[in-house]
Amino acid sequence: MTHELAVLGGRPVRDTAWPLWPRATETAGRALAEVLGSGRWTVSGPYQGTESVEQRFAKAYASYTGTAYCTPTTAGTTALTIALQALGIGPGDEVLVPGLTWVACASAVLFAGATPVLVDCDPRTLAISADAARAACTPRTAAIMVVHPFCNLADLDAFVALSAEKGLPLIEDSAQAHGARWRDRPVGSYGVVGCFSMQQSKLLTAGEGGAVVTNDAELHSKLEQLRLDGRRYGPAPIPGRLELVEVGAVQGRNFCLTEFQAALLLDGLVRLDAENEERARTVKVLVDALRGVPGLSLLAHDDPRVTRRTYYNAVLRFDLAEFGGSSIDAIASALSTELGAQTSPVYIPLNRHPLLRADLADSRLRTQATVDAISSARLPVAEEARRTCLTLPHPLLLAGADGVADIVAALGKLRGHAHELAGLPQTRSARAF
Ligand SMILES: *Cc1c(COP(=O)(O)O)cnc(C)c1O
Repeated sequence: MTHELAVLGGRPVRDTAWPLWPRATETAGRALAEVLGSGRWTVSGPYQGTESVEQRFAKAYASYTGTAYCTPTTAGTTALTIALQALGIGPGDEVLVPGLTWVACASAVLFAGATPVLVDCDPRTLAISADAARAACTPRTAAIMVVHPFCNLADLDAFVALSAEKGLPLIEDSAQAHGARWRDRPVGSYGVVGCFSMQQSKLLTAGEGGAVVTNDAELHSKLEQLRLDGRRYGPAPIPGRLELVEVGAVQGRNFCLTEFQAALLLDGLVRLDAENEERARTVKVLVDALRGVPGLSLLAHDDPRVTRRTYYNAVLRFDLAEFGGSSIDAIASALSTELGAQTSPVYIPLNRHPLLRADLADSRLRTQATVDAISSARLPVAEEARRTCLTLPHPLLLAGADGVADIVAALGKLRGHAHELAGLPQTRSARAF
C-alpha cells in the first residue's frame, strides 16, 4: 500500500511543478516591448504608420478559422454580447443555451434581455444535444447557441441542419476549442457567428480577450461598431491622427482589446497548433495508461467527423462504486492535493448553478417567465455528468509522459484508498474554477 492520501497529510504523488500556463516566451516579451514604445496602446490611439497589432491579429485569426472577418473583443462574454446584439436578439426572445457550460453563455443572454432556454447534453460528448434542442424550439426561439465543451465538439451536422430548417441563426461558442476542426473545417466557421474567449485558462490567451468571427459583411460591420462606440477602422489613415471613423450606424460600447493583448494573441497563435498536438499526444498516452485503472474512462469520444481534436480539459468519467462510493467532489479534492493542481468536477448544471441568478438580474431586463424557464429546465444528462465526471486542466497535458505517470499514479492511489476517500467530506467546495 502506498502512502496515506495527501489530503490526510500523506506525501503527495507529485511534488514538482506543472508547466506554467500561460507560457512566457521570449517572442511575446519582445512583442510587448514593441507595443510599449510604439505610441499606440489601443485601436483608438493614434495611427503610427503601421497596421495596428489588433488588426493584424484579426486578419490572422479570421484566416486561421477559415472566415472572412474577425472582431477582437475584451472577453468571451463581450464577444457573445455583441454577437447577440448584432443578431438583434432582445426582450421577448428565447435563445437555446447548453445546460452544461460556463455561466457566461446564459448570463450574456440574460443581459441582452432575452431568455436562456437551457438544453440538456449528449451523454457521449457532454455537448448540447441536437435532439433536445429541436424539442426546445418554440415560436419565440430567436437563436441557437452551441458550445464545444472541454474536448468535444457538438454535432455540427445536426445543428447546421436544425438552424437551416428552423431559420434560426447559429451562435457557435468555440471558447473551449480553439483550433479544433469538424470535417476538416475550423470550429467557429459553422455558425453565422463564431465566438471565442482568450481568458487566461483558454488554449489561446492574452489573460483576457475574445473574438467574434463571421463570413457576413453586414454583421461584421455591426460587430465592429458595437465594440468600438460606433466607430470603425477608416481608409487611408494619417500618422499621428486617429485611424477610426465615426460611423454610428448602431449604438456601440467600448469592448476593445489593447495592443498588448493583441500582441500576446498573435504570439500565441503561432504556437497553438503545436500545443494542440502536444496535448493530443499526451491524451493518447493517458488513454492507454488508464486501461490499467478500473472504474474510470476518459471522455474521448471518437467521432470521425472531428478531424482535429483539441483538449481544453480532459474529462474523466468515474464509476464511483470503484472509489468507495465517494462523491466526485471528494475525488476531485483528493486528486488536486495529490497532483498539486486544481482538478474540478464538470459544471454544475445551469438550472441550479449558484452564479446564474436570474432572480437578481436587473428587474427591467428579466421577467418571471425567464426566472421560471431557468429553474424549471430538466437536465438529467448534465446532472449525471456533474455526479460522475471531473476535468484535468490542459496545462497538465503539457507535461508529457512524466505528467501522465503522475496522473495515473494519483488515480491509482485514490482507488487503493477508496475507504479513506469515502470518509472525507463529500460536499461541494465553493472554490471557484
Ligand atoms: C470562458 C468561456 C466564456 C466566457 O469567456 P470570458 O472571456 O471569461 O468572458 C464563454 N463561453 C465559454 C464556453 C467559455 O468557456
